[in-house]
Order: sequence, then structure tokens, then C-alpha cells
Amino acid sequence: MIRYQLVCARDHEFEGWFSNSAAFDDQVKHGLVICPHCGLQDVSKAPMAPSIARRETSSKNQREIVEVLREARNHILKSSENVGDKFAEEARKIHREEVEPRSIYGNATADEADSLQDEGVDFHPLPVLPEDHN
Ligand SMILES: [Zn+2]
Repeated sequence: MIRYQLVCARDHEFEGWFSNSAAFDDQVKHGLVICPHCGLQDVSKAPMAPSIARRETSSKNQREIVEVLREARNHILKSSENVGDKFAEEARKIHREEVEPRSIYGNATADEADSLQDEGVDFHPLPVLPEDHN
């Protein structure tokens, strides 16, 4: 079976399943393919542009993912304290319960991040957004 995207003379789009392309031609010739929207028998295959469709889909998904990440990050930024370059120091203090537990964010070098991880300090990198690279 193959699926065709079909369009009638009034521009209604619908899908049809056919055992092969010859069966489609044959059924159209005999007026057996009918538009489900208006009953027209004047039906043809809709022009397809699969590569364009796929590209649009993936860039749309990418935009949605970026939106989700941006929201997540905004939430973190709003509910946390910016400790800037003291992130490692502050995260360590919170981990050792030397200060009140709170949400913080800030900058850490790769070395600092490594040693925090070794000490079992729980932290997460902020989501990276496309504009961060600008
Ligand atoms: Zn129609």
C-alpha cells in the first residue's frame, strides 16, 4: 500500500491509500476517488515537498526546545541568588550547611565544577541558549 496526499479541484486536501500507483490512476480514471469534503471526483495528487516540510518541522521543534529551555532558565534565575564568580565557594558552603540552604547561580570554571562534583555538591549547568553564543 502507498499513501498519497490528494487534492480535489476545490483545493480540499485529503489522504488516500492505494495498492500501487497504477491502482490510483485506474481509480481516478473511473471516478472512484472522491473528495471526502465535497464529493468531487476531480482529484489529483497534491504537490509534495518532503525535504522542505522536514526542514520546517525540525526548525519549529528547535524553536520550541529553545523556548522550554529559556523558561526553565528564567525560572532558575528568578528564584535564585546571583553569586557571580563566588559560585563554587557558595555552593560548597551550602553543601557543608555552613549557610542557610538557598538556590544560587553564578559562574564556575571547569576546574571548580570538577572539584564540586568530586565533593558531591549537587549543581546543574544552566541551559545554554543560542543567544549565549552571540
Ligand atoms: Zn473537495
